[in-house]
Amino acid sequence: MSTIHIVGAGPGRADLLTVRAARILARADAVLYDRLVTREVLELIHPGAELHDVGKEEGRQEEIQRHILDLLEDCGRRHQTVVRLKGGDPMVFGRGGEEWRWLVSRGWDVEVTPGLSSAICVPELAGIPVTYRGIAGGFAVVTGHRYPAACQEWSAYAHVDTLVILMGVGRRAEIADCLIAAGRDASTPVAFVENGSTPRERVIVTTLREAGLCDVGSPAVMVVGAVVNLRGQLIQAPDFDTAVDLTSLLQVGEAHTRQAC
Ligand code: SAH
Repeated sequence: MSTIHIVGAGPGRADLLTVRAARILARADAVLYDRLVTREVLELIHPGAELHDVGKEEGRQEEIQRHILDLLEDCGRRHQTVVRLKGGDPMVFGRGGEEWRWLVSRGWDVEVTPGLSSAICVPELAGIPVTYRGIAGGFAVVTGHRYPAACQEWSAYAHVDTLVILMGVGRRAEIADCLIAAGRDASTPVAFVENGSTPRERVIVTTLREAGLCDVGSPAVMVVGAVVNLRGQLIQAPDFDTAVDLTSLLQVGEAHTRQAC
């Protein structure tokens, strides 16, 4: 009986994968991966594995999703270890929970491997901790896509200490306006972290008032709150030159000899 693994790929850098994810990729027979999964992570997949880039699919969202589920089943019938690889953590947006539920309802043996979610680790790597004693006692993670025109929906989040918005780049002006309309101070610091954890990372710091004006591309995490100001004290120089060699991480007992990133 084959197992279908739903695996988190983390934010981009291969050394931010969990050891468990790297081990599963190294023995995968088939992998279906999303748009946000980086080449660096794909290189860790077993060389003989069948690869399916399902992030490039075009068409209606429901049709694409249907195709992915069919393909997962097809791979499950032909292979022992099938991997559904998703950016960040598989249960933070991206329909991971729905795929899990559907596979279980169809009788498949499913195993889930969490990943580092961009919601927390992308700000963190850019020098922005989502909580900080005395500054932020809590945070919320919200999708920027969920509330097309309903500004009042944002009022539930306007006063959360740190608000982390994923998939919000295209609507940043509207989101900022809604938060201000809901009572958040227009001078609240805002950061956009684009391509977090990769050599193409770019951090833009602004305020809620100006958030709609700056030039930001996708994917980016938008962070709203006073913790953004900590960046200046926490980051000296970004370090992206560490060559990633995970070979020994995959060997039992050697993980502790590796240096953390
Ligand atoms: N499951 C993913 C989120 C999927 S939604 C996770 O846990 O990270 C996709 C959104 O995540 C993007 O639109 C962007 O807002 C954010 N994102 C994912 N990876 C990112 C990265 N490396 N840098 C910046 N934002 C990223």
